[in-house]
Amino acid sequence: MGDRLIIVSNRLPYRLGRGEDGERKLEHSSGGLVSGMGPLHERHGNVWVGWADEGGQELSARERAEFDAQLVAHDCVPVHVCEEDAHGYYDGFSNSTLWPLFHGFPQYTSFEEADWEAYRRVNERFCEAVLSVARPGDTVWVHDYHLMLLPSLIRKASPQTAIGFFLHIPFPDYETFRMLPWRQELLLGTLSADLIGFHTYDYVRHFLSSCRRLLGYDNHLGHFLFEGRSTQADAFPLGIDYDRFHNAALEPKAACQIERIRADRERPGSKTMLSVERLDYTKGIPERLRAFDAFLQRHPSWRENVVLKLVAVPSREGVASYQSLKREVDELVGSINGRYATSDWTPVEYYYRSVPFDLLTALYATSDVMLVTPLRDGMNLVCKEYLACRGDGGGALVLSEMAGATYELHEALVVNPFDRDAMVEAMLRALEMPPDEQRCRVSAMQKRLARYTAGKWAEEFLAALDGVLRHQARLNAHLLGPTSSRRLQEAFAQASKRLVLLDYDGTLVPFVDEPSDAAPDDGLKALIARIAADPATTLAIVSGRDKETLMEWFGDLPVGLVAEHGLWRYSVSQRQWLLREPLDGAWKDRIRQTLLDFVDRTPGSILEEKDYSMAWHYRACSNELAERRVIEIKSALSGVAADMGLMLMEGNRVLEVKPVHVDKGSAAHHWFRDPSYDFMLVAGDDVTDEDMFRTAPENAWTVKVRNEPTQARYALKNPAEMRSLLRGLAEASAPRFEGRSGIM
Ligand code: UDP
Repeated sequence: MGDRLIIVSNRLPYRLGRGEDGERKLEHSSGGLVSGMGPLHERHGNVWVGWADEGGQELSARERAEFDAQLVAHDCVPVHVCEEDAHGYYDGFSNSTLWPLFHGFPQYTSFEEADWEAYRRVNERFCEAVLSVARPGDTVWVHDYHLMLLPSLIRKASPQTAIGFFLHIPFPDYETFRMLPWRQELLLGTLSADLIGFHTYDYVRHFLSSCRRLLGYDNHLGHFLFEGRSTQADAFPLGIDYDRFHNAALEPKAACQIERIRADRERPGSKTMLSVERLDYTKGIPERLRAFDAFLQRHPSWRENVVLKLVAVPSREGVASYQSLKREVDELVGSINGRYATSDWTPVEYYYRSVPFDLLTALYATSDVMLVTPLRDGMNLVCKEYLACRGDGGGALVLSEMAGATYELHEALVVNPFDRDAMVEAMLRALEMPPDEQRCRVSAMQKRLARYTAGKWAEEFLAALDGVLRHQARLNAHLLGPTSSRRLQEAFAQASKRLVLLDYDGTLVPFVDEPSDAAPDDGLKALIARIAADPATTLAIVSGRDKETLMEWFGDLPVGLVAEHGLWRYSVSQRQWLLREPLDGAWKDRIRQTLLDFVDRTPGSILEEKDYSMAWHYRACSNELAERRVIEIKSALSGVAADMGLMLMEGNRVLEVKPVHVDKGSAAHHWFRDPSYDFMLVAGDDVTDEDMFRTAPENAWTVKVRNEPTQARYALKNPAEMRSLLRGLAEASAPRFEGRSGIM
């Protein structure tokens, strides 16, 4: 990994505030991202790129320049965005489109083209800011949903930069994500990162499923190839700065607050339930209040003996859905207090403001029950902070199963926040939980939180990014770069007898949905004709296609042909196709119906029948369905296939049934066994070509046209690169004087 880390997030870790004397000064922002990245930012040379938060203050040009200078002195790179773009990007696309949709609230989601345009422009501003400080060897770590286009923008401008991306909110299921008109752009925007991180494995699964279904990218355990680059998606649950919270209650300032809170308790022995969050519709505040109402209704003995402290931090007040939520919460609090309050008891103490750190930790330390019941939350840090502040090992946590944190905190009382009865039940259990049980549950969770802190999270992400880069380096070692290409061409030019064996689909032409649409263009045919015209060169197309198609496409050229993965070889001297071994095609009648049934049940798939094999193509199918069907076909046919001496072979989005012992490797042996070749080039792209790579003589130039693990010695990224290699060979070829004979 690079020497220097560039952190990029919507906001910088500092904002402009006012000191007690009214003077403007930089203030440290709080939150999980800052505690995770803070220590890394402080390391020498690292910088943080983000939106300069002027704290709502009107600044003159001179004051803004001073603010910028202060940020720069703190290793920050401020990004300035004009007011109109800032509104469309932040209130608009980020918080009225991505935030609600990704949290599963389509009813609050707006789909405004103008917001999307602003989002794109602001991502470009961020890219300019990153590029203004990036140096070769730097690592860039981009954070969150505000900047989903940034990885691809950076990659385009600076292809070698190591890029990490982390999404701090949930990634929705495919059915929800597909609603976005800009869904492909967003996926492609993030896929240029080398590592894409999420809080939970569920979000990883959703992301991979959208990549597969919307873009057709298959992955292997979260790894996939995107534009010739290996990319990985994985889960890294964000932790907190455990010691900071754990030690906070011991600080004199917090201890004093704790004393005050205890002294203020309305009745000795009464209990406190606490909830703390931004006033956001994802946090389930109305549902929690309604459950508390039902709790007081059903358990009258708790009236006057329990108080719900509701801290709602003002948030995104410029967005309409937040304004109506505020009204709803105000009304619910009013109605509960109006109904149950007595002269010396208020059931809900409602604070609509943010609370300073020492008060927050004092509230955590003194509350008997913590209610964290969001309807959907990417992670949720408040529940972790509460546990860290319980120096006494007591307290009870009621936690929504919809929060990412639930996966780590299963000792909490886990509830479905939509199930009011379950919420009431959990409140009762939490209030009545014996101290021993509290300590047992809390200490188990504390141990985990103390180990997997925010700092550890950042370290693990960067270590995983390093792993991806090393994996890429291993793959890239294979890449046929300019030097080895030159060596290959020299070897070709100097050789007196050459062999060139080329697979067709995926090697010479890219894949298309309909196999019959992949006919060679004039440029490709001219290229092949020119190489094959040299009497010293034998060129053959070794394909899985049927012999009729190959004859139609290449029958007029002086090239050898192998059809159906080695089953047929065209003998030019005999002017006929030779069968590799006498075979019986009767087996096809026994499995045809089974395969046709699968075609009917799998929209988009087709059955191709060749002389001695049958191929089920699923390139145009929904990927998830196809994946399931492949498993089903394999299990339906595996028994019969073995009995009949057949094998099931998986190619690039095709499953082929064919006789065993027939493969491209054994077909290529026809040429490999001839020791007089002093140059051999063998190129292919999928599993069926691996048989050729395996059996090729050691000194052959074997080339995989896809950058992934292979038996081949070299790799090229795509058919376009393969063609350019062939152009070099064409230039080194002499024109042929003989006729077709002598090719095979
Ligand atoms: N928090 C804060 N000011 C407050 C109350 C809470 O800064 O008045 C912090 C809290 O300590 C926590 C963060 O806000 O670190 C909320 O993070 P969480 O992941 O729970 O929710 P988010 O607001 O990111 O959806």
